[in-house]
Amino acid sequence: MAEKRDYYEVLGVSKDASADEIKKAYRKLALKYHPDRNPGDKAAEEKFKEAAEAYDVLSDETKRKRYDQFGFAAEQGGFGGGGGFSVEDIFRNFGDIFGGHFGSSGGFGDIFGDIFGGGSGGGTRVERGSDIRIKLKLTLEEIMSGVYKKVKINKLVPCPDCQGKGAVSESDIKTCPDCHGSGYVVRQSRSIFGITQTQSVCSRCNGTGKIVTKPCRKCGGSGLVKAPEEIGFKVPAGVAQGMTLTVPGKGNAARNGGVNGDLYVLIEEEAHKDFERDGNDLIYPLFISIPDAIDGCEVEIPAIGGKLKIKIPAGTQSGKIMRVRGKGIPDVNGYGTGDLNIYVQVWIPTRLTAEEKKVVEKLKDCESFKPIPSGDDKKSFFDRIKGLFK
Ligand SMILES: [Zn+2]
Ligand SMILES: [Zn+2]
Repeated sequence: MAEKRDYYEVLGVSKDASADEIKKAYRKLALKYHPDRNPGDKAAEEKFKEAAEAYDVLSDETKRKRYDQFGFAAEQGGFGGGGGFSVEDIFRNFGDIFGGHFGSSGGFGDIFGDIFGGGSGGGTRVERGSDIRIKLKLTLEEIMSGVYKKVKINKLVPCPDCQGKGAVSESDIKTCPDCHGSGYVVRQSRSIFGITQTQSVCSRCNGTGKIVTKPCRKCGGSGLVKAPEEIGFKVPAGVAQGMTLTVPGKGNAARNGGVNGDLYVLIEEEAHKDFERDGNDLIYPLFISIPDAIDGCEVEIPAIGGKLKIKIPAGTQSGKIMRVRGKGIPDVNGYGTGDLNIYVQVWIPTRLTAEEKKVVEKLKDCESFKPIPSGDDKKSFFDRIKGLFK
């Protein structure tokens, strides 16, 4: 895959371009590189898609802000289906740019047909490949720092023998007799309101306007074959179990040089041996001995990306929570970093030797070992308990 170009560069506008300038720049490119105006020109098609993707992001104030801040990572981190680039986006963009009447009757061909149909004989349907969904396991370390991942996927790609056309020779591809190459059939129906014309996608050629008379042997005329592809993408720091990353255009290919589907990556978190995740915070249970709780101590605890020395003050009660600010997980949307919360537990031994039992017997007589919690002790207990049910 070629390195992605900066969206502003793609549209040829400055970083502080107004919404109007962006729209104008995109309109110009969309018209110039439209597939119907450049039939069979792969480079033009790529430029067309590139421009549509750039416009999708830069025309949306929220997406543009995130892109300015995080670059492509932000755009790929379109969680919950909200982000990423899809054909629907192109669709929306066209409606946006060329007027509102395109959005009504689903299908690319409608849009392109309306705009470019006229004399060019175009207006055939641009097909879209299906999406691919995969699961991706990440360690807490990878989530903390963000990571570049490569996955190998068996996906549909254009057939190498026929370049996705379904037939090896051009002469084996004929104009569809049902729709005469338009990709559409028009039906008339009579009702009390008069004659109504309905236009629908030609079922014989699936809207492509062409039929294959002698199918390619390798792909059986489908134009597509399965092949492994290595796909790399950036996982931003702070993702969580159940989030979905969209990698635009990395799904299955479509026939006849159509638009690729998207790749959806469902994030799964691997359990960590030391920490439990709580939103953007990390929880670490720390067990200390009774003497250490009384005297205070210094302990070393594991932290991601190094160890941390923690001072436990003398007289620490079991259940105390010690917060280390900023040692949790970075927020996926860039809103700061969570904390590391150390839950101190005083370890109560369950098996004692005869000698140790004698020591405990002695402690029973010590006046200072009898619980006499102060108001503050009770308050901090209630605060903790309430915190648990927040
Ligand atoms: Zn083929
Ligand atoms: Zn047809």
